[in-house]
Amino acid sequence: MHRFLSEPQIAAYEVLLGKPAVKSAVALTLDAARRSGEPEVPDFHALCTGVVARLDERRAQDLMPVVNATGILLHTNLGRAPLAPSAIEAVAAAAAGYTNLEFDVRSGSRGSRYARARGVLCSLTGAQDALVLNNCAAALLLVLDTFAKNREVVVARKELIEIGGGLRLPDVLARSGATLIEAGTANKVYAEDFARALSPKTALLLRCHPSNFRITGFTHDAPAADLAEIARNAGLPLVEDLGSGAVCDLAAYGLPHERTVQEALGAGVQLVLFSGDKLFGGPQAGVVLGSEALVARLRANPLLRALRCDKMTFAALIETARLHLNEDRRTQIPLYAMLGASLDVLSDRARRYAQTVRAVHVVETQAYAGGGALPQSALPSIGLALQPRDGATAGAAALRGTSPPIVARIENDRLLLDLRTILPAQDAHVTTALQAIA
Ligand SMILES: *Cc1c(COP(=O)(O)O)cnc(C)c1O
Repeated sequence: MHRFLSEPQIAAYEVLLGKPAVKSAVALTLDAARRSGEPEVPDFHALCTGVVARLDERRAQDLMPVVNATGILLHTNLGRAPLAPSAIEAVAAAAAGYTNLEFDVRSGSRGSRYARARGVLCSLTGAQDALVLNNCAAALLLVLDTFAKNREVVVARKELIEIGGGLRLPDVLARSGATLIEAGTANKVYAEDFARALSPKTALLLRCHPSNFRITGFTHDAPAADLAEIARNAGLPLVEDLGSGAVCDLAAYGLPHERTVQEALGAGVQLVLFSGDKLFGGPQAGVVLGSEALVARLRANPLLRALRCDKMTFAALIETARLHLNEDRRTQIPLYAMLGASLDVLSDRARRYAQTVRAVHVVETQAYAGGGALPQSALPSIGLALQPRDGATAGAAALRGTSPPIVARIENDRLLLDLRTILPAQDAHVTTALQAIA
């Protein structure tokens, strides 16, 4: 044991993982060698390599940056949206010291954390009031718990979806004690279906963005404005879970139009919910926008405490919202820089790769917004294709073994790296990694 622990390449892991973890990796490696039944005693260096492999495996379980070469801009497995530099600065400033999180600087008395992002979110969207929670699933839970417990919620059958990670709308409704009333059929729903579904027990009408799922062909939706009128006449709230929360027209980025937060509010939806880290391009958060009276009821729910977010989230969200206020500054948000990167700029970068790594071919690819937004709309992009020496699977594993790990796509037995999602600052690291496997 002592000899292993004095070995510099093993000792280096002590600061990263702590001594007990290093000792346990050595013990497990020795144990495995003893139990292997091999007559030959393995040599010391082979054992060291085994220990290091175990330690690397341990390290890979910690949170760390990765290079996203998949071409999927909002990749949920890769942590969705990267933050803008000024949002990162705001997070760092909030994290480094104390803040006015729950303190009113003017009066010197207690303030509300829930009011922190209200001003900028309302300016941006025209909403009366705003509330920020841990994520969009939390927002949905709070809305249902506040308004729909032991009552009925009307949802279009075609919107009764499962949104990745096992979040199923019917289950969420059931868990919050609400009874689901389905309107329409699997492919079509009309406003009259909602009107017919109302009863004295109805708590609210719910619209839900179908995210990664599309029904095409013989299909019909009930317009939000019509549902808003039905809700208004019945004295009930119309709530819409928008999911990705676009606040600008994505057509400007060569994508089809995605319904925006402002459009939903404009149609008379009384509470709009969306994620902070999808098309908003900010931190993980659940944003609720809408009527002052309804948001006030959400604020009064004791469950709020369990769903609240921290000062770093507020700092990042407020700064991201500020960048959205100005069309020119929006491209400082990495998501919008990636969406807006021209094919010429991507091709120039690709050519520089190809000059250094001879085995790389510049190819046209298709990138995707991801995060449940526009799943079927490809964004033309430029990528690098390569046939690694040891095959695509081994090549992909080798790229994941670099630091930071590079996550690429495999297509037709080739490795494919999409330049739209690789940050330009990561080009040098990716070039070196490709040289090693070419
Ligand atoms: C992504 C999504 C959610 C969940 O959002 P989180 O912020 O990940 O909790 C909820 N509803 C819809 C429609 C979504 O697309």
